[in-house]
This record gives sequence, C-alpha cells and structure tokens, in this order.
Amino acid sequence: MVHFIGAGPGGADLITVRGARLLGEADVIIYAGSLVNPALLDYKKEGCQVYDSARMTLEEVIAVMKATEENGGTTVRLHTGDPSLYGAHREQMDELDKLGISYDVTPGVSSFSGAAAALCAEYTLPDVSQSVIITRMAGRTPVPEGEQLRKMASHGCTMVLFLSTGLLEDVEKELAAGGYPPDTPAAIVYKATWPEEKVYRCTVSTLAQTARENKVTKTALITIGNFLGEKYERSKLYDPTFTHEFREASQ
Ligand code: SAH
Repeated sequence: MVHFIGAGPGGADLITVRGARLLGEADVIIYAGSLVNPALLDYKKEGCQVYDSARMTLEEVIAVMKATEENGGTTVRLHTGDPSLYGAHREQMDELDKLGISYDVTPGVSSFSGAAAALCAEYTLPDVSQSVIITRMAGRTPVPEGEQLRKMASHGCTMVLFLSTGLLEDVEKELAAGGYPPDTPAAIVYKATWPEEKVYRCTVSTLAQTARENKVTKTALITIGNFLGEKYERSKLYDPTFTHEFREASQ
C-alpha cells in the first residue's frame, strides 16, 4: 500500500492527524526534500527507511514503492502542501495502477492557505473578490495557451501564483497587460508557516524590486488583489438586518 500524504505548507504541526498517523506507521518514506520540512520526519518509526525524492526520477520513486510492496511494507509518499496542486502525484498513481499496487491520498494544507494565514487575510472578501485564481507564470514549464497570465489576470480577482518567484519581471508585465492597475496591492510570502516565514507587502508594479531587495528567489507565493486593501463590505451572513436559514434579522 502507498499513502500519498500532503505534508502541509511547512510548520511540522500543520500535517493532518491522519497524515501524521500514517507517517508513523510507514516502513518507507519518500519525501520531497526540497520543500517538505525535515522536522516532519520526526514522526517516523524506528527502522523506517527515508528517501529524498528531490534526487530521484519517477522511475526510481516507483521502483522503491514496488520493492517495499514486494516486502509487504507500506510506503508514504510525502508531498509538500496538498498533493493536488503541482504535486506530480497523478503520474505516480498511474504507474501504481499498472503495477496493481493500491494507494490512497490524504490531503494537506496547501501553501496558499498558509500564505493567507501569514497575511491574516481573507481571499474572498464580499464586493472585492469572490474567486481565487491559482496559477503560475509560464517559464521552463509551459502553461496551456488559454491560461496565459494576462488572460487569467483579466478577471481582476484574487490571484495566487505558485512557482513564479524567479520570473517577477514577466509577472509584472503580464499582470499589467491583464488590467491590474500598478498600485494594486500584492504580497510575497516566503516560506509560509515555516519558522523563517517572511511577508513582504508591495504592489503589482514593485513585485520584482521587492523580491530583489529581500533576496527572495524561491519557496514563495505571490498573492495579488484588492483583498489586501482596506475596503470591503461586511458579510451578509453576520449582518443583523439579513435573514437566513439559521437566523432571523434582528433589526
Ligand atoms: N503542493 C504544494 C505546491 C508545490 S509547488 C502546495 O499545495 O503548496 C512548489 C511551490 O509552492 C513553490 O515554488 C512555492 O511557490 C510554493 N510553496 C510551497 N510551500 C510554500 C511555503 N511554505 N510558502 C510559500 N510558498 C510555498
């Protein structure tokens, strides 16, 4: 059996209870050493073998899972954040299907949630934005034609950019081309929820400069939009004049 587990964004106590239990039961752990906090390995049992997938190919990862299965063992594949975002676990699951090895997935707290927490921000403020676009700037890994950053930016909603910290000059141009005014608030969140977390608030036109000045080159998320601003409407849910299923208006 293989358990794909979301490790959470960094803080070692941000893995789910289920994820921590499965980590503790694993005979083999394959973890994404470039991004997963090594402190999570403290959950492992004695004798557990640990592999860092940062140095491995898909074929090598699968070979370790296959050998563990043949020995009657359990593998935990520990992915950063939630595996469903840029996790590359689909290709592993497809290989396991071919080998007849069963697996399941335990979700994790994605770094985009960790970044909102670091900012003490709400992505979906009434009258400001009710949508969050999670995407990335095209770089060495291309992005499908219809998802060019300028097209995504044309909605003017909250955006969270993964894997784009090294491309911020291009990000600025694309966001401007998409219609964000240059003074739209933005923030760079470095290592959200890690002990060394840093938050840099700026605007869409100062993203590259802010990253340069603070020497942020990776492990950061770029958040964009007026959810970082001052203005928003109160929610209807807690408005005394608004009636809903669980509460009569009191004013
Ligand atoms: N599955 C992961 C994302 C993996 S892609 C998740 O759900 O979070 C790796 C990218 O995620 C990094 O390049 C960076 O952009 C972002 N990232 C991962 N952990 C982060 C963290 N703690 N703080 C800020 N960005 C992070």
